Amino acid sequence: MTTVKAYGATAPDSGVHPLDIERRDLRDTDVAISIDYCGVCHSDLHTVENDWGGTSYPIVPGHEIVGTVTAVGPDVTKFSVGDKVGVGCLVDSCGHCGACEHDEEQFCEEGIHGTYGGVDRIDGTPNHGGYSEAIVVKESFVLSIPEALDPAAAAPILCAGITTYSPLKHVGVKKGDKVGVLGMGGLGHMGVKFAKAMGAEVTIFTRSVSKVEEALSQGADHVIISTDEAQMTAAAEQFDYLLDTIPVEHDFNPYLNCLKYDGVHIVVGQLTPLEPALNTAALVLKRRSIMGSLIGGLAETQEVLDFCAEHNIACDIEMLDMQDINTAYERMKKGDVKYRFVIDMASLKN
Ligand code: NDP
Ligand code: ZN
Repeated sequence: MTTVKAYGATAPDSGVHPLDIERRDLRDTDVAISIDYCGVCHSDLHTVENDWGGTSYPIVPGHEIVGTVTAVGPDVTKFSVGDKVGVGCLVDSCGHCGACEHDEEQFCEEGIHGTYGGVDRIDGTPNHGGYSEAIVVKESFVLSIPEALDPAAAAPILCAGITTYSPLKHVGVKKGDKVGVLGMGGLGHMGVKFAKAMGAEVTIFTRSVSKVEEALSQGADHVIISTDEAQMTAAAEQFDYLLDTIPVEHDFNPYLNCLKYDGVHIVVGQLTPLEPALNTAALVLKRRSIMGSLIGGLAETQEVLDFCAEHNIACDIEMLDMQDINTAYERMKKGDVKYRFVIDMASLKN
């Protein structure tokens, strides 16, 4: 075991503060990584504050990890010391169930093995995330960071990127489709870039008038202020797909009305029961549907990294020192992030 510096939470109201954690000795197929950058996902905040229930403390968040390989186990074949690598939301899976066989390890029938919040499948020790100096991960859960990508801006692709790319690809977004993206945050701004790259006409639904100009300059074709009833009414039956990244409970009904018949409302943000109730007539009368989506498997995560390199897609990031994480969370709660915080882990190491 090696003791490394980290930042984590010890209770829902503790904030995130310095902690020492243990990283395991290298197993034969393990890769040891010195962490250079870690993106800050709204899921980190939900977990720290126990919004979804079930957080077990202490918790070290962070699942948008980019770093440099410092050592490899004897059976590792894909990586060598010095390689730029990434670790996203998953660190293990059973490897043999139907989902794993289809490269969708996020749906592993033996349960999801997240980068933080769960326990190691072999020794039962808690998994700790990327708000730390170093991590040890099984080779098959380590991604290659393409040389064309800026390593800091690549970090959010490992969660915000794959979570928005995967469902857009799954539903088959194509040239000419009308896609609405709900919430212009870390996930939303990546969703806009992917939907554009897939050929769609893209509209951002935002509460924030201050984000309109930037949204357009980022490639969105139109912006709708979601709190403006007249704009929402005018959007009725306009969209093939809505990608909903809103992180809190919200009324789905006004958005459902914006879908054409056969339209799909893709939920990735809200993980709590619907309130107010859903008007199912809006589904039945237009054969609309609501689907959910969860990150993506390892193969698809590598695919989206390569897609970003090929299409010159980068996350818009604001760099942060580890010590400023609690202020970053406060700003994230207010929607005041353009559009992803990334922690420079040099601030923890020095
Ligand atoms: P951010 O905080 O970066 O962005 C969320 C955006 O939603 C905000 O910028 C804001 O955009 C909008 N928003 C915030 N609060 C409200 C509100 N009360 N009402 C309406 N809109 C609001 O979050 P992320 O993009 O990191 O994450 C979004 C959600 O997705 C989180 O719940 C996260 O846990 C979840 N998630 C899900 C994953 C999955 O696999 N399904 C994976 C990763 C994250 P604007 O200012 O434009 O209104
Ligand atoms: Zn995330």
